[in-house]
Amino acid sequence: MDVLVLGAGVVGLCAAYALARDGHRVTVLERNPEAAREASYANGGQLSYSYVAPLAGPGVVPNIPGWLLRADSPLRFRPRLDLAQWRWGLAFLAACTAERSEETTRRLLRLSFLSRDLMRRLVAEEGFDFDLVPAGKLVVHSSEASFAAARRLMEFQAGLGSVQEALDAAGCVALEPALRNIAPRLVGGIHTPGEEAADCRRFCLNLSDALRARYGVRFAWGTPVRQLVAQGGRVRAAMTPAGAVEADAFVLAAGAAAPFLVRPLGLRLPLYPLKGYSLSLPIDDEAAAPRVSVTDAARKVVYARVGPVLRVAAMADLVGHDARIDPARLDLLVREARAAFPAAATWERLGPWSGLRPATPTSAPVLGPAPGLPNLMLDVGQGALGFTLAMASGRVVADLLAGRAPPVPLDGFDAASHGIGG
Ligand SMILES: Cc1cc2nc3c(=O)[nH]c(=O)nc-3n(C[C@H](O)[C@H](O)[C@H](O)COP(=O)(O)OP(=O)(O)OC[C@H]3O[C@@H](n4cnc5c(N)ncnc54)[C@H](O)[C@@H]3O)c2cc1C
Repeated sequence: MDVLVLGAGVVGLCAAYALARDGHRVTVLERNPEAAREASYANGGQLSYSYVAPLAGPGVVPNIPGWLLRADSPLRFRPRLDLAQWRWGLAFLAACTAERSEETTRRLLRLSFLSRDLMRRLVAEEGFDFDLVPAGKLVVHSSEASFAAARRLMEFQAGLGSVQEALDAAGCVALEPALRNIAPRLVGGIHTPGEEAADCRRFCLNLSDALRARYGVRFAWGTPVRQLVAQGGRVRAAMTPAGAVEADAFVLAAGAAAPFLVRPLGLRLPLYPLKGYSLSLPIDDEAAAPRVSVTDAARKVVYARVGPVLRVAAMADLVGHDARIDPARLDLLVREARAAFPAAATWERLGPWSGLRPATPTSAPVLGPAPGLPNLMLDVGQGALGFTLAMASGRVVADLLAGRAPPVPLDGFDAASHGIGG
C-alpha cells in the first residue's frame, strides 16, 4: 500500500524502514531540508536500553518545590497560560506512583530490548557508520539515598533481563578514570556493560540515504504538512503547499509538533515539549574525557563519546514550544560539565544546541491507530528515549498496518491507555 510518513526525525525514519522492508510504497514528508534537523539533531547519543524508567516516579514529588524555585535546577517548570502544560503536569503527577512507574518500566524494557535487537540487525545488514560505540554506561550517584534507590531498580530490572552491576566509588573510578575530579562526592554507581552510544543525526542521515537508494522511499524535503484531511472514518490526504498528497495509510511521526496536526481531527495527544540542551565539545585530552557513557545522577547530566566529540546533554524544561537556547541554562550546563571533566576540552568551541523532547506524562510513547481513524498510525511521544525506542516503535506500527500481532503488548502505549479519545 501507499504509506505517508509525516516527519523525518529518527522515529519517522525507523518507521519508514520497517514499512519499506514490508514492501510498502513509502513517502516521507518533512518540513526541513534534510533529516534530523529537530529533536534528533544533537541529542545525548545514548542507546539506553536498560535505562528506561520513567521520569515520573515516587522519588520525584519531594523534589518538585526545588525545581520550581531554583534557577540552577536540572529540571525547570515555568508556569504559562497554557492549558496543555497544566494538563500534562497534572497527568505527570498522577503517574508518580511506585506501581505505575514499575509497570511503565516493565513495558518500556520490552520495547527497548526489541529496539536493541532490531538496531543490531540493521547495523549488521546495512553497514552504517554513525560512531556507534559499545562502551557501556555508568550511572554515578552522589548520595546514599539515590544509590540505594538505583540498586533497588537494578534488582527489579534483573528479573526483566537487564544485566547490570553495582560498583562502589572506587570501582566507578577504576572503570572510568576520567571521573577522578568528581570522585570525592561519589558513593557508587550502576554499570550496564551492554549499553551503546552513537550519533543520532548521522544515523538518520545514513538511514535516509539508504531508504532512498536501496528501498525506493521517496522524500519530499521542505514540505510542511498544513493539515490532514479525514473523510468517512479515514485520513485521505496530507495538505502541503504543493497540494494534497493522498495515501492508503499515514504514520504520524512529527515529534513535539504532532499535537498540532491531529487537534483539528478531534484528537488530543498527551504530548508536551520537554526542552533539553547539549554541548558537542571537541576532545582536547583523550585521557581526561570519559570512554564509558557516564550519567551523573545528582546533576542529571549525561556524557558520551560521539565520534571526535564529547557530547554532554541535560536539562528538562517545561517551558512551551520554544527551542531557543536560554543563555543561563547553557551556562549552567557548561559549568557542570567543566567541573566534572575540566581537561577534556578547551571550552572554547562548545557546540551548543537545544531541542524539544516529545514527552508524554508517563514517558511511554503513543503507538498504534488513532481512535476512529484506523489508517492513521500514531508513532510519537518517545520523549527522552527516541533514539533508543525508534526502531521498535517503527516495527510496532508496521506490524499493525500489515494486520500482524504487534511484537510487544500495546498496553500502556495505545491510544486508549493514553486516554486519547476519538
Ligand atoms: C537534550 C536531549 C538529549 C537527548 N538524549 C537522548 C539520548 O541520549 N537517547 C535517546 O534515546 N533519546 C534522547 N533524546 C530524545 C530524542 O532525541 C527524541 O526522543 C527523538 O529525537 C524524537 O524523534 P522524533 O522523530 O519523534 O522527533 P524529531 O526528531 O523532532 O522529528 C520530527 C520531525 O517531524 C517534522 N515535522 C513536524 N511537524 C511537521 C509538519 N507539519 N510537516 C512536516 N514535517 C513536520 C520535524 O521537522 C522533524 O524533522 C534527547 C533529546 C534531547 C532534547
